[in-house]
Amino acid sequence: MIRTLLVCLALFTPAVAGAAPLAKDLFGGEQRASQQTSQAIGSYAKGCGAGLVQLPETGPTWQAMRLSRNRNWGQPELVQYLMDLSSAARQVGWRGLYVGDMSQPRGGPMKTGHASHQIGLDADVWMLPPSRLNLSRSERESISSISIRTEDQRNITSNWTRSHQALLKMAASDPRVDRIFVAAAAKIAMCKTAKASDKTWLQKIRPIAGHNTHFHVRLKCPRGDSRCETQKPSVSELSKGGDGCDETLTWWVTTYLEELRNPPKPTKPKGPRKKTAREYTMADLPKACRGVLAAN
Ligand SMILES: [Zn+2]
Repeated sequence: MIRTLLVCLALFTPAVAGAAPLAKDLFGGEQRASQQTSQAIGSYAKGCGAGLVQLPETGPTWQAMRLSRNRNWGQPELVQYLMDLSSAARQVGWRGLYVGDMSQPRGGPMKTGHASHQIGLDADVWMLPPSRLNLSRSERESISSISIRTEDQRNITSNWTRSHQALLKMAASDPRVDRIFVAAAAKIAMCKTAKASDKTWLQKIRPIAGHNTHFHVRLKCPRGDSRCETQKPSVSELSKGGDGCDETLTWWVTTYLEELRNPPKPTKPKGPRKKTAREYTMADLPKACRGVLAAN
């Protein structure tokens, strides 16, 4: 019975939806970048990328991982940033970086994973320090990163090292960076060990769920990209001008975890439920994204 119902739903869904294709399928089907001037269009979680550039699969100090996903694309600023950071990583004793998902060739919503990473300014960097930088394609599919956080989400594990902190500090201190997302336990550890006289960089480190096997770098809108939406609130607003080592950080290891165990009764939503990135059609994205899809 249930199976019949599912089959019926599957058969009828395209017609019911009025056949407006989903943006994730359109952008997820693109194999290469648009031949346009590079531009970030829209917001990190609702937009697309014109003229994106591919991070070379392997460089002297990096490897792009999970090549089958074809998500090693970004704005030229992001590609340059990753090359720079991977080179600087040697200063903390790493051989370089394993780079996870960036954007699809033309950005946009993805069929799987991330809600953001849509405009070519987000990149995930693995917490696993590279052992070598000549991994084969298949090794890059099978090797996993490491978790720097305990299962109960309260603490870091021994996988978290001083070099991780030094790397995050370098990553966040770069003026191109808007913010960096990482597991709360990691930020708590950094708040404890950072020198009191040198904590301003912590403002850009933002606690978030997950992000225990990678950290997520988000760059600012590139200069001149008038269609790129700067994220609000800013990290300065979020941390009231401070370093964010405050009660909003502790919340992640207290109230947040408590509510995971004992979810509060859901309150009735006001108005219609917001669409998720995977439900967007082209009508939900900035108009210029149609041009990005249509371009050569
Ligand atoms: Zn990410």
